[in-house]
Amino acid sequence: MDNFISTHESTIRLGVFFGVFAVMAIWEILAPRRVLTQSKSARWLNNIGLVVLNTLVVRLVFPAAAVGVAAYAAQQHRGLFNQLDTPDWLAIVASVIILDGIIYLQHVMFHAVPAFWRLHRVHHADLDFDVTTGSRFHTIEILLSMLIKFAAILLLGPPLVAVVIFEVLLNATAMFNHSNVRLPLALDRVIRLLIVTPDMHRVHHSHLAHETNSNFGFNLSLWDRIFGTYRAQPEDGHTDMIIGIDTFRDSAQCTQLPRLLLMPFIGAISEYAINRRRRNKHNES
Ligand SMILES: [Zn+2]
Ligand SMILES: [Zn+2]
Repeated sequence: MDNFISTHESTIRLGVFFGVFAVMAIWEILAPRRVLTQSKSARWLNNIGLVVLNTLVVRLVFPAAAVGVAAYAAQQHRGLFNQLDTPDWLAIVASVIILDGIIYLQHVMFHAVPAFWRLHRVHHADLDFDVTTGSRFHTIEILLSMLIKFAAILLLGPPLVAVVIFEVLLNATAMFNHSNVRLPLALDRVIRLLIVTPDMHRVHHSHLAHETNSNFGFNLSLWDRIFGTYRAQPEDGHTDMIIGIDTFRDSAQCTQLPRLLLMPFIGAISEYAINRRRRNKHNES
């Protein structure tokens, strides 16, 4: 099983990526939730360009990838599940859930630490919200996320299959919950009991700081409920809400790839970083 996964990891990953991307892209055309404000071709060209760049850089810097780290941990008997005699199914389910919880905490950290928020702004400065937003992260944020994931894998010692399930699932759900798609509201309510829906994550892309600092989950919706960061709907409604951040409204600056790469290094840190919020501005808990 492990051999099969190691050999076919890239194929599984790419297959799911292109499959889910195609489904969401077509769904966005057939049943869009909002009218896009920017040129779709310009945004897609640059957002996808950033994804290609990130993929190449990660391959170059971390050729072994997360699965390689999990294989190393197993070989060295390192990490929790490599030391416990846990049934496989339980180790797999628990690993996927714990890794997802770590991604939630990491996302909160990227909002809380001003220097990290500078990087994460690239994700939030997208002036529209669609399937390509889901993979739009600054290259340095991607590299830092990989290091955090490697550390988590060394501590957790998850089965290889759990790492692949986790990464493929996260990739698929991130594309799903960033999509500009309209889901029947009743269906949205049911799905978001378990998985973050587009309407739930769109709140996180609101220009209002207190909405940006809510709904941090990328896959399972339970973390926001457990940690009290859940916000059901945006104040201005899904069709009228403003997407993006107030300090970056220039279309070219928020779209063009070279300027996205420079974005962390320009301007002041806005009040969006959690510990920079003016506490008397909003009274929400
Ligand atoms: Zn965020
Ligand atoms: Zn997002």
